[in-house]
Amino acid sequence: MCGIIGYTGGKQAAPVLLKGLERLEYRGYDSAGIAVINNGNINAIKTAGKISALAEKTDGGSKLTGTTGIGHTRWATHGAPSDVNSHPHLSENGEFAVVHNGIIENFAELKSELTAHDVHFTSDTDSEVIAQLLQYLYDGDMIRTLRKAVTRLIGSYAIGIIHAYSPDTVFAVRKDNPLVVGLGSNENFIASDFAAALEYTHDFVQLDDGDIAKLTPRAVTFYDANGKSAVKTPYRVDWDISQAEKDGYPHFMLKEIYEQPKAITNTVRPRVKGNEIVLDRIQFDAGNVNRIERIDIVGCGSAYHAGIVGKHFMEKYCRIRVNCELASEYIYSDPITDCRTLTLVISQSGETADTLAALRLAKKRGSHTIAIVNVMESAIARDADDVLYTYAGPEIAVATTKGYTTQVAALYLIGLKIAKIKHTVSDARYNELLKELLDMPKKIEVLLSDISDIKSYAEKFSDRKCVFFIGRGTDYAASLEGALKLKEISYIHAEAYAAGELKHGTISLIEKGTATLALITQSDLYTKMLSNIKAVQSRDGTVVAVSSQANTKISETADGMLVIPVCDDDVTPILTAVTLQLFAYYTAFERGCDIDKPRNLAKSVTVE
Ligand code: GLU
Repeated sequence: MCGIIGYTGGKQAAPVLLKGLERLEYRGYDSAGIAVINNGNINAIKTAGKISALAEKTDGGSKLTGTTGIGHTRWATHGAPSDVNSHPHLSENGEFAVVHNGIIENFAELKSELTAHDVHFTSDTDSEVIAQLLQYLYDGDMIRTLRKAVTRLIGSYAIGIIHAYSPDTVFAVRKDNPLVVGLGSNENFIASDFAAALEYTHDFVQLDDGDIAKLTPRAVTFYDANGKSAVKTPYRVDWDISQAEKDGYPHFMLKEIYEQPKAITNTVRPRVKGNEIVLDRIQFDAGNVNRIERIDIVGCGSAYHAGIVGKHFMEKYCRIRVNCELASEYIYSDPITDCRTLTLVISQSGETADTLAALRLAKKRGSHTIAIVNVMESAIARDADDVLYTYAGPEIAVATTKGYTTQVAALYLIGLKIAKIKHTVSDARYNELLKELLDMPKKIEVLLSDISDIKSYAEKFSDRKCVFFIGRGTDYAASLEGALKLKEISYIHAEAYAAGELKHGTISLIEKGTATLALITQSDLYTKMLSNIKAVQSRDGTVVAVSSQANTKISETADGMLVIPVCDDDVTPILTAVTLQLFAYYTAFERGCDIDKPRNLAKSVTVE
């Protein structure tokens, strides 16, 4: 949630900040602002709305002069999106400006304390209290003052600060929310995500919890939580800035859908040596694998849905009980876990606050943890015992596509690896499945080469109030993600139902005009699914089947067909996902929705 950028160097700061904010807009887009130091004064311009509104209000940044500043794109948690609640927040005397990502949980107590000392607040946010506290505590030394201030803050934060009397300097501090320092040549940056500064540098330093950074154009100094100067090792990001651009596609989401063959190749290819799966530094051997009594998969949203697909696969081939948990529930459930449970945590950004908390809890209770993450060096990647990067490349659209399918592919790899060690899969079946995974990018390409049917059903159903997704087994798992995708970007009410469960209640919702997408890719369940399709049609519902061209019986029964390439039953969720992503995309397109930035959503959910 929210994007932070800070700059100090030789250029005019405001245009650099605006550009950085554009790259961060996927993180929050209800309001934005920038503040720049000029001759010992801080000038700020902020506005409700998107970065384009801020660009207009600042005349592309030219209304703010100065070479040091901070910027913010907000996803409001405390206080409505408005000009005054937008960040940066200034202290009452105007000497401090602050941008904040996260939640200050004790802001009300701090606010009353400061109000009692005659400090006047102007916004409804929790974040303003940081600026006012800095002013109140300032003792002439910024690092000392910052340390005093953060000891008073309870909650999560990544904070960027400028101070009128500290020319050319940006300060930063973080706890539980992402913040990186970008090291340029005679210019330095802070950013929530390195994409914001990738145009200027590929060298970054990840701040650890409690770290403070002081940036000037020529130097960056780090201090640990005790105020001692700290040495940090930079890492290099190989991602290309062009990957963070639309490349001629109308939306990032469509571009990312089309990037899936490459993304899955990147997830799978480097891990397959001959017919062996080598999972980076993860040490799976007979000793530790045979000790696993249960696998917990923890995630939120689409990552949770990827986990459910993984559960079906792993239970079938590893013969280990797999539990899927929503991270936000897991952390407050007093989970029963210990060293006999393997915990897989899944997060595209690696910063999802609920998932991070779940990971920490599982670790504390003795479980071995593996993170499936896309963003390198993110908090979850660094905190887990082991990490498997999906290598999907930057995902900008808020609704995940390649992030999700690469997570599914990573789960298949882990499942196959464990099954092979446990001898719960035959060599022949193992080889077949591995080949299917390696062939998957080609099959996605085939699917993407003709999407005319998907487009026409999306157009046809775009006026519906409600769309159902049904399936059994792994198709039900895939339906959950299909329904979520449609809800997220088209705002059509969509629900996924286990097809056999319809008759136990939800079939009462079927009426004339109700559109149902029936996923039917599991050969042992065809007949049952055909009956479920009939039952929906008997209540005047329209059913479009999602299945491979090999199933003529299905095309005779359903009212329409979305064909996926022929594929092994156990790995079809990747192909059905691509079809349903495109269905959601074109439905939302038809309805004129803001596809890359759907209302009320943010990509990297760094608050609980
Ligand atoms: N809690 C702060 C606010 O509502 C920051 C939210 C964010 O991370 O965007 O303004």
